[in-house]
Amino acid sequence: MNLPTPYYLFFADEFIANYHDLLSCFRAIYPDYQIAYSFKTNYTPAVCRIILKLNGYAEVVSDMEYRLARKIGFPADRIVYNGPGKEACLEECILGNGLLNIDHFREVERVCALADKVKDRTIFVGIRVNFDIGNGLHSRFGIDAFNGDLENALAQLKKHSVNVRGLHFHISRARDRQAWERRIAVILDIADRMEMLQQNHLDYIDIGSGMFGKLGNDLKKQFTNIPSYQDYAEIVAGAMEKHYRQRKKKPILFTEPGTTLISAYFSLFTKVLDIKTIRNKYFALMDCSYQNIGELCALKKVPIVKINHAGNEQHYDSVDLVGYTCLEQDVIYQDYSGKLGIGDILEVGNTGGYSIVEKPPFIHPDIPVYMQENGRITCIKRAQTMENIFLPYIFSDEGVSV
Ligand SMILES: *Cc1c(COP(=O)(O)O)cnc(C)c1O
Repeated sequence: MNLPTPYYLFFADEFIANYHDLLSCFRAIYPDYQIAYSFKTNYTPAVCRIILKLNGYAEVVSDMEYRLARKIGFPADRIVYNGPGKEACLEECILGNGLLNIDHFREVERVCALADKVKDRTIFVGIRVNFDIGNGLHSRFGIDAFNGDLENALAQLKKHSVNVRGLHFHISRARDRQAWERRIAVILDIADRMEMLQQNHLDYIDIGSGMFGKLGNDLKKQFTNIPSYQDYAEIVAGAMEKHYRQRKKKPILFTEPGTTLISAYFSLFTKVLDIKTIRNKYFALMDCSYQNIGELCALKKVPIVKINHAGNEQHYDSVDLVGYTCLEQDVIYQDYSGKLGIGDILEVGNTGGYSIVEKPPFIHPDIPVYMQENGRITCIKRAQTMENIFLPYIFSDEGVSV
């Protein structure tokens, strides 16, 4: 394959296999399990379309993402709408029987106002709750489940005949086993409390995500305590199965995987443009930037899956792989040791999460994405152009009147 670098390659077949793995581990224990794919992690339409074809749900956190999900073809009732930034699609989502999870009290008020407006039909919502799972993170999302706010929200919604059918929780920086054991235990307590207060059963329990996906050895050794899908399923689906064993119509269990589903199935292909030495330190200049790689770059040593050598390489004990931006912090890999030469093409793995969606229009436009499916390679995102980036700007001497 001779595509000009830099570019991403999306491995669709492996992505689908991973989706099925996660799904079947959970369903084997709790059949009423559904996946809602976190759009914000990587909303490439070709990726989201696969989720739709696999009968997954879309998990969105803005009107932009809600409209994207609809445009891709998700029926309104296959969309989970979360987050503090809901605009006009809050009402649209509820009226379309979407799964909307309330984040704060202004949303409670908006839902009540909507219910008053459409008195002839029942309005259904979920509530995102917040509690400490002991990971040292003071999360700001959702409604506090232990200071009376949850009861107040339920009472207010009840007054306007809103049916609270769902319970939602999500927290980041808590991927280990203990965090998940605590998460599901507390959620089931809160679910019982909500059902008692409301005198009806919940339709769904959505426990967000923040699970490890499958990691290659290079990444694995940089973490400790990595549960497998089977481990997560035993903890979460196992607790659900036990808790609702006697119940005929069990609540649907949702998780909202983003990185878990997508990260490992995007690779970035990037070329060595130059190697130089500055005061005895080696720098290899790449044709991408750390912004093409995403959050992983700053946290860990990114996995360099493969190098195609151009034929002029030398061995280096330590060379920093750096990007094209004019920022000193644009380091893709610190202290790389091995054979390297100008013209070599590196495949950097695990670049699917929070990469394309977070790439700013900084210095260079974004790069294209190709998809490998059934041995065939197609383009699923064109290279961004200078025109794309400057379209919103006004180029005349004066601005446009407002
Ligand atoms: C970001 C986010 C996710 C996805 O989290 P990952 O760690 O990428 O799996 C799921 N749910 C909500 C509400 C989120 O904000």
